[in-house]
Amino acid sequence: MTPKQFQQAVLTWFDRHGRKDLPWQQDINPYRVWVSEIMLQQTQVTAVIPYFERFMASFPTLASLAQAPLDRVLAHWSGLGYYARARNLHKCAQTVVSDYCGEFPRDVEALTALPGIGRSTAGAIASISMGLKAPILDGNVKRVLARLHAVAGWPGQTAVANRLWQLAETYTPDQRGNHYTQAMMDLGATVCTRSKPRCGDCPLADACAARARGNPQGYPGKKPRVEKPVRSATMLLLEHDGDIYLEQRPPSGIWGGLWCPPQLDEDDGGEASAQEWLAVRDLHAQQIQTLPPMRHTFTHFHFDISPVWVQLQNLPAQVAETGGGWYKLRRLNRPRAAQELGLPAPVVKLAKQLLALQAPLLAESPAS
Ligand code: SF4
Repeated sequence: MTPKQFQQAVLTWFDRHGRKDLPWQQDINPYRVWVSEIMLQQTQVTAVIPYFERFMASFPTLASLAQAPLDRVLAHWSGLGYYARARNLHKCAQTVVSDYCGEFPRDVEALTALPGIGRSTAGAIASISMGLKAPILDGNVKRVLARLHAVAGWPGQTAVANRLWQLAETYTPDQRGNHYTQAMMDLGATVCTRSKPRCGDCPLADACAARARGNPQGYPGKKPRVEKPVRSATMLLLEHDGDIYLEQRPPSGIWGGLWCPPQLDEDDGGEASAQEWLAVRDLHAQQIQTLPPMRHTFTHFHFDISPVWVQLQNLPAQVAETGGGWYKLRRLNRPRAAQELGLPAPVVKLAKQLLALQAPLLAESPAS
């Protein structure tokens, strides 16, 4: 299949079957395309849509995002995970305002130099919103090209990535680059899917080497398995009369900038350490109870949380040196609490657990 035939097949398929009604395909501009591309990096389209719409309602322009406090941006990201993306988004908006007068540069290299924008994202912004000829190679496109040419190996390896980039460059057309980019992403997302490719509906089927070998799922190669390390910590759920204490995490590191209960490091956990922690701060517990552990998995490690529920006798204004605040547990249990308050998903789960534990106590209480 020549590049021309390939482009024709892909574009004809796009005209008939491509997605054209996604929110970021309306009122197209570099800002909207950029935000959507960053959200879509680790998240499915259907999950991204409501986040994208809320984000655009709150930050309709690049300038409004650059001016917003990071806290507010993180709160809009809560639940999407991979928070470094939101921090980079904010930093990038500020860089575009300060270095480029608020307009994204019309150049792939300059785009790639901005915080959080990799080569493929730069290509998507340039082709979809600027009409430039620029290849992309996101996960969907990697899969289509690796299968079409039966490129063996894991795309995380440089040699494999270089080969796939070379193919992406070869096939990118001079005209209709915006539709071609969208078509390749759609083809990977809807036809050449990871586990059940619909080769019968694929415009590239006749030329596909992986299909000819009867093994589409064998491409691209899988990442060599490495056991993820485990980190663990105790979380102190300081509670008083239905209020829980949360403090803001430092801007870098896991859940940077989000609100969490105080945390004791792994060597330091357990109820005894919780007692010590309270004593140092002159706090008095009515009751201390260890709750079932919870595992949260990040890209590079598992995080085992041992929650310790501490019912305080009184409500001090300030608990830790880092500062923090008291939140109604019921407020944390609301449907959009994670987004509104900037909470990681496990903290919302812990709050729900606490509420469930409290329900019988409240029912017994004459005041409730
Ligand atoms: S023929 Fe099948 S494996 Fe090959 S690109 Fe199309 S959907 Fe993917």
